[in-house]
Amino acid sequence: MKISKLKKNVVLKNGTIIDPFNNSEKKGDIHIENGKIKTIGKIAAPKSSEIIDCKNLNITHGFFDLHVHFREPGGEDKEDLNSGSLAALAGGFTGVCTMPNTNPPIDSPESIRYIIDRSEECPINIFPIGAVTKSQKGKEITEMGTMINEGAIAFSDDGVPIGDAKVMQNALEYSSMFDIPIINHAEDECLKCDGVMHMGKVSTNLGLPSSPGITESSMVRRDLEIAVHAGARLHVPHVSSFRSVEHIKALKKKSEKISSEVTAHHLFFTDEDLVSYNTNLKVAPPIRSKKDKKALIEAVKSGTIDCIATDHAPHTIEEKEGTFDIAPFGMIGLESCFGAVNKVLTSNNKISHLELIKLLTVNPRKIMKLNQDLFKEGTNAEIAIYDPNIEWKFSLENIYSKSNNSPYLNRGLKGKIKSTIVKEHIASQF
Ligand SMILES: [Zn+2]
Ligand SMILES: [Zn+2]
Repeated sequence: MKISKLKKNVVLKNGTIIDPFNNSEKKGDIHIENGKIKTIGKIAAPKSSEIIDCKNLNITHGFFDLHVHFREPGGEDKEDLNSGSLAALAGGFTGVCTMPNTNPPIDSPESIRYIIDRSEECPINIFPIGAVTKSQKGKEITEMGTMINEGAIAFSDDGVPIGDAKVMQNALEYSSMFDIPIINHAEDECLKCDGVMHMGKVSTNLGLPSSPGITESSMVRRDLEIAVHAGARLHVPHVSSFRSVEHIKALKKKSEKISSEVTAHHLFFTDEDLVSYNTNLKVAPPIRSKKDKKALIEAVKSGTIDCIATDHAPHTIEEKEGTFDIAPFGMIGLESCFGAVNKVLTSNNKISHLELIKLLTVNPRKIMKLNQDLFKEGTNAEIAIYDPNIEWKFSLENIYSKSNNSPYLNRGLKGKIKSTIVKEHIASQF
């Protein structure tokens, strides 16, 4: 990947411009001047401008991932804000929200400020999510108001579920004053017990400790009920079970403040893939059955699920080399996301290409109340340029993260990012 500064005038020529905000798809050019969108249409390039040939390529908004773990501070051997940014650029992402389960956790105004200051040195836009409770211990609510003033975009104790319903209620009531989402990692720890995969035929065959879908859905139901009661914003992350989908669908009818995400890996894999004992498939919540995967795809189609996230969670080779029951939960996902979801969701016309792009652009930005009209004149250019049809095999050379715990290695994907434009730079892969 080569990253270079944009020239004063850049023209993206002869691409298919997909505008997920205005629901349009047309052939044309985009003129970027001083890093900002100037005009879109048929453009006579100004003298001395850099021309980028986009024939047979699509041009759209830079993707937005509202759920990543960049491990800084404290876990820089796995990832830091810079290396995570490179992984994002390779995947077409120009903005991400970082989860606060670092060491120490991002649970104070000062620590939010640290991420905001550091992100200014990074090549993408980074929005920190603050912890819901101090030290993510699930007891005492953080100073949300002052953290928002420093730049916190949402709150989550992700990695650790908020087990105490009263704490969840307090957090939702407090956050509703600011109309900012709470994101709870919903897995009932008593039901999960020592489970490392989804409970079903496959776990019985493999002889691994497992947990059923209700581990998630019972807590999702609880959170939804409390959020509706409090009139608060709840974003349900990494939905994995069909019963969670049913609950979200039902409670969304009662409140407009409910949103949810699905990860690329819960759409791509099933528990049958775990027969390889590949520890890179060990994630929380676990990859579930075919029935669950089918329900997730249906939920994406119907709009019950609002957006796609990666839950990019780097771990070192040494950690993932342990046996399945002791390896840590999590996989990286930024670099492989588009090729995976494009392959799963647009095959057999499950959803249109425009709908897929919305799941990666306007929908997650809407949840975080960020600008969604990125092709408007004068807007800072945030663009993904990609080939939607190329079939390719994901390999180590496609990984820019410091870690390489990806179950997509040596798997076939469809659609690949060519260039990503953000912060007056262009990152290109050849
Ligand atoms: Zn989580
Ligand atoms: Zn996570």
